[in-house]
Amino acid sequence: MGRVRRFGSLTDELKPAFTDAEVTVEAGRCLECGGPSALPPCTLACPAGVDVPGFVGAMAREDFSGAARTIFAANVLGGSCARVCPVEELCEGACVLARAGRYPVRIGRLQRYAADRALAQNPEHEGRVPNGRRVAVIGAGPAGLACAAELATLGYAVTVYEAREDSGGLIRYAIAPYRQIAEPLPQEAERIAALGVRFVMGFAVDRPDRLLQIENGADAVFLGVGLGHDLDGGYGGSDLPGVWPSLEFIEQLKTGTPPAVGRRVAVIGCGNTGIDAAREALRLGASHVSILYRRSEAEMPAYAHEYREAVEEGVEFRWLTNPVRFVGRGRLRGVECERMRLGAPDASGRARPEPIPNSTFTIPVDTAIVAIGQAPRAEFLGWIPGLELVRGKVRVDPLTGRTTNPKYFAGGDAVNGGATAVAAVGAGKRAAWGIHRALAGLPPEVAARAPAPAPPVEAGAVWRYEQADAALIVNRAWCKACDLCVEVCPTGILALDVSDRITVSDISRCIFCGLCALRCPDYVFILERGGAPVSAIADSSLAFGELHDA
Ligand SMILES: Cc1cc2nc3c(=O)[nH]c(=O)nc-3n(C[C@H](O)[C@H](O)[C@H](O)COP(=O)(O)OP(=O)(O)OC[C@H]3O[C@@H](n4cnc5c(N)ncnc54)[C@H](O)[C@@H]3O)c2cc1C
Ligand code: SF4
Ligand code: SF4
Repeated sequence: MGRVRRFGSLTDELKPAFTDAEVTVEAGRCLECGGPSALPPCTLACPAGVDVPGFVGAMAREDFSGAARTIFAANVLGGSCARVCPVEELCEGACVLARAGRYPVRIGRLQRYAADRALAQNPEHEGRVPNGRRVAVIGAGPAGLACAAELATLGYAVTVYEAREDSGGLIRYAIAPYRQIAEPLPQEAERIAALGVRFVMGFAVDRPDRLLQIENGADAVFLGVGLGHDLDGGYGGSDLPGVWPSLEFIEQLKTGTPPAVGRRVAVIGCGNTGIDAAREALRLGASHVSILYRRSEAEMPAYAHEYREAVEEGVEFRWLTNPVRFVGRGRLRGVECERMRLGAPDASGRARPEPIPNSTFTIPVDTAIVAIGQAPRAEFLGWIPGLELVRGKVRVDPLTGRTTNPKYFAGGDAVNGGATAVAAVGAGKRAAWGIHRALAGLPPEVAARAPAPAPPVEAGAVWRYEQADAALIVNRAWCKACDLCVEVCPTGILALDVSDRITVSDISRCIFCGLCALRCPDYVFILERGGAPVSAIADSSLAFGELHDA
C-alpha cells in the first residue's frame, strides 16, 4: 500500500474552478477543430453533443455569455456535468492535442467557468408557444431534467414527479463530494422551471394507481427513474454496525452528516463507486483502506484514471479476494474472505473467478462499504403493461427512447444499467425528440448528409482544400517523406504515395485541427480559418506565393 496522502476537508475539490488568467491561457490552446463534414472528436465523445470548439472559441474571444448559451443549448446540466463528467474518458480523452504530446484542453473546467458565470445571473423567462400536449416525467435525475427541458422548449406542458425533495438524482445524492455537493443543481433546476416545467417534489410514484393517474393525464410518459438500492451480495453479518451499503454511506456525506469510519476500512467491489467510497473513507480519517475484488486488475470495471488516482492517494487493492461474510460480535471486526483464481471466461467475456479450496482468511476492519452495484426498480417497472426488460434494464428503441409500451419512453440508468450523468442527459434529450416526433406524427429522423466537400484547387504541387471558412493547403513539393504528419493525424487521412509525397485520402473526414501543420518540419501544410493562417509555425506567405504564382 502506498503512503496515505494528507487530505484537507472532505469537500476539497479534485478539480477546483479556474481563475480568469487560467481561462485565457487554456481557451487559447484549443485548435477549434471541426468542419462541415466532420465533427471534432471532443464533441463526438460527449454524450450530450456539446459543441466544444464553439464554446471554447467563444471563451478565447471573451464572449462568456455566448459560450454559456452554446453549452446549455446542448446540456441543460452543463454546470453540473462540467464538475462530474469523467472527462478523461470522454471529451478530454478524445482531444487531438494528446496526439502531439500535449495536455488535452481542460474542457470540463472551461465549461464550469462559463456555466457558473451564466448561472450566477437570473434565468431568462423565455416565452414558449404552448402546443397543448402534456408529458409526465418520472424522476428528476439528469435524464428526467434533460427530457423535461427539451420538451418544454418544444412547447409541451411538462410535469416532473420526483420522490426526493431536491432534484438531480444521483448527482445530488451519490456523486462524490470532492466533485460536487449540490451547487449548481438548484440554479440549473431554476432555469428549467423558468422554461415552464412544473416540478412536483417529494412525490413518489409508489403505487400502481398513482402511476395510472399520471398516465391518464398525459399524452406520453418519460421514465427517468434510474436504478434502486445497492445490491447486498448476500454476505452473512451484513447487519453488523459498521457495514454500509455504498449509496447510504455516500448520501450521508453529501447531506452533511458524514458517517464515522474506523481506522481500517474495506470496500467490497472495484467499480467507480467502490473507488469513490474508498477515497472518501481516506478523507474521513481512515488510516488503511483496501478494496477487495474477486477478479484481477485486468477485469476491474473502474476507469483506469480513477484507479491510478486512488493508488496515489494510498488505497490498497487486494485482487482475487472474495469476501464471504462479515464477522464480529455487536460490531464489525473483520471480513472473512477466500482467495480466488481465474478460470474460463463467463457470460460477460471476463475470466470467471473460482475459489481456491481451503484458502479462507480474515482481514481485520472496523468499517466495510459494499459497492457491488444497484438493483433495477423491478417492482415499479412491473406496473407498466407491455414494458419489456432485458436483465432488469428497460428495453428501448435507441434512437427515440420509446419502450415496448408506446405511451412510455425511457432513458438514463434505468435503460443503460448505470453509466454517467452526461449519458443520462443525452438519453433524456433523445427521448424528448422521440416523444415530439411520435406526438406530432413526424416521420423518423433521417441523419442529415454532410455536403460533399469541394475537390482541391490544384496549382502544380500545391493543393488547396476548402470547407466553409477553413482551408488546408498542402505543398507536396516540399514533402521529405518523414511521416511525422501521418503519425499525428487523428483521422488517418494522410499517407505517402508511391513517389513518397504526402496525399490526402478523404478530405471529408478532415477535422481541420492543423496538427499536421504544427508537426511538419518542412512547412508542407498550412491551415487557414477565415482567410488567415492559424498555425503558429507556418509561414503561409511562401505557399500562397507558390499557389497563386504557379
Ligand atoms: C456512487 C456513484 C457515483 C457516481 N459518480 C459519477 C460521476 O462522478 N460522474 C458521472 O457522470 N456519473 C456518476 N455516477 C452515475 C450517474 O450519477 C448516473 O448515471 C446518473 O445520475 C443517472 O441519471 P438518471 O436520471 O438515469 O437516474 P438518477 O440519477 O438515479 O435519477 C433518478 C431519479 O428518479 C427518482 N425516482 C425513482 N423512482 C421514482 C418514483 N417511482 N417516483 C418518483 N421519483 C422516482 C429518484 O429519486 C431520482 O431522483 C455515479 C453513480 C453512483 C451510484
Ligand atoms: S458535457 Fe461533459 S463530456 Fe460533454 S463536453 Fe462537457 S465536460 Fe465534456
Ligand atoms: S479536439 Fe480540437 S476542438 Fe476539441 S478541445 Fe481538442 S483542440 Fe479543441
